[in-house]
Amino acid sequence: MTRTGSATPHLFADWDGIARRIRENQRLALFLDFDGTLVRIAAMPDHVRLEEEMRGVLRKLAAHQKVTLTVISGRQRAELQRYIGLRNMQYLGLYGWESNGNKTVPFPDRVALVSVLLSLLAELPSYPGVWIEPKRNTFSVHLKDASGETKRRVVRQVERRIKPLAQSLKVMANLRDVEVAPVSIGDKGVAVRKFLDQPDMRGALPIYFGDDFSDEPAFAAAERGISVLVGKRRATRAQYCVRGPVEVAEALSRMEKIIR
Ligand SMILES: [Mg+2]
Repeated sequence: MTRTGSATPHLFADWDGIARRIRENQRLALFLDFDGTLVRIAAMPDHVRLEEEMRGVLRKLAAHQKVTLTVISGRQRAELQRYIGLRNMQYLGLYGWESNGNKTVPFPDRVALVSVLLSLLAELPSYPGVWIEPKRNTFSVHLKDASGETKRRVVRQVERRIKPLAQSLKVMANLRDVEVAPVSIGDKGVAVRKFLDQPDMRGALPIYFGDDFSDEPAFAAAERGISVLVGKRRATRAQYCVRGPVEVAEALSRMEKIIR
């Protein structure tokens, strides 16, 4: 179900009910997005910093036998490991597709990806506030500092380039960038569903925090549990909302105290 922005209750407004579900469940499957959820958005993606308070509560949760902790992001997995640097947790990169570095994208899709990347690299930098980040199996066109008009033009241009290659590539629109990815890379909902389908996870309570449009399929996949939109309110499939990473840390710390 999609709610309008103002209809989504704050997570702490219904805390007693949430605390009860956390206490009563034998297993918690906790999923956390990274940018805008665990860390504040920085001027450049590589300027983000995980606050020590957040790292501390993640460490405690990861060590708890009742909790499986997963960070799931559009970033590459190695970056997540570098920024967080904790053990006993799972890192999923590229929207959950990248779990251990062993997967490969079909060759024709890789060729299509590189050809679109090269043409956009030549076309797009002339727009102010727009830059391209090549990743191993996808690339991002960053738009955080671009005007609304530039954003619309760039998205249209990216979509036009992808159209003849729709068998191989897709475009994912996020809050601050668009991602071009092979069609074989699923969304975060696919990854969350796959995780929850494991035999030992069938009875687990899923808890999902995320801020972006790419988190919406995962809110839906975590429907039987607790889903939380982080940041500015908007129409969402999440059941609850919090204002930003500071309140995410507060929520995680409350959860940790309940199960301690
Ligand atoms: Mg995010």
